[in-house]
Amino acid sequence: MNKFCPNCSSSKIQKLDDTVCKCEECSFQIFSNPTPSCTVVIFCGENILLGKRNRNPDIGRWHLIGGFLDSREKAEDCMIREVKEEVGIDIKFEQSKIIGTFVHDYEYQNENIGVTTVAFVVQVDESQRLQAVAGDDVGEIKWVLWSEAQKLDLPFANNEILQKALESMGFVPEDDLELIRKEIDQTDNQILELLARRFNLVAQIAKHKIKNNLPILNAKRWHSLLKSRIQKAYTLGIDGKFVEEIWHKIHQYSRQKEEEIITSSKSK
Ligand SMILES: [Zn+2]
Repeated sequence: MNKFCPNCSSSKIQKLDDTVCKCEECSFQIFSNPTPSCTVVIFCGENILLGKRNRNPDIGRWHLIGGFLDSREKAEDCMIREVKEEVGIDIKFEQSKIIGTFVHDYEYQNENIGVTTVAFVVQVDESQRLQAVAGDDVGEIKWVLWSEAQKLDLPFANNEILQKALESMGFVPEDDLELIRKEIDQTDNQILELLARRFNLVAQIAKHKIKNNLPILNAKRWHSLLKSRIQKAYTLGIDGKFVEEIWHKIHQYSRQKEEEIITSSKSK
């Protein structure tokens, strides 16, 4: 927030809300909108390029490449310019992808200015990797494996941005993989338990039909059942043909179980 009115230099600034202040002397309104910046996660294969800040705030900390937009500059042009200035690599816009916008605090001249940053991922090739050299605002650069970068405590919204970048690139940490595998095991167990329950229900129906002298196979019921399962599969984003094959197998096995029940009931 401004300490003095830019219009009349009065210090009687009244804060109306987080965004707007008003001068009590001349009624001039001062807006503190977020400052736009860009942040870029530069990948070369499984490695990410980090720079070490050589000025405050957060001097000496490793961070993702990025910076503030110049007057009337597009975020993508800022990204290309900052990458060139900070680490010397020539980037083409086509190599980049926007992964979202993020908000963070930034201490500047004892004021906390809010920043909204547009985050990009860029994949560079080997020749671009060799161009990398510490430039403006950067004391040192280093390439680190994404799994190592993830463990670092980075400034601003860098950790959040890195996480999103890794997701967009399909990189999943080993710990998360283990969790996902456990969930697959649990899901498979549930599938098997549900199948057992289904075959048990089929057996109950078979017994009821034998008792009441009803035909075992109801073709009409089977066709409408199959149709509804395929429709349901479609709404869940599963291929209908695949589901049809599975349900044919389930049906086949159910028939087989029914036959066994009939045979055993006749032999009694
Ligand atoms: Zn004023």
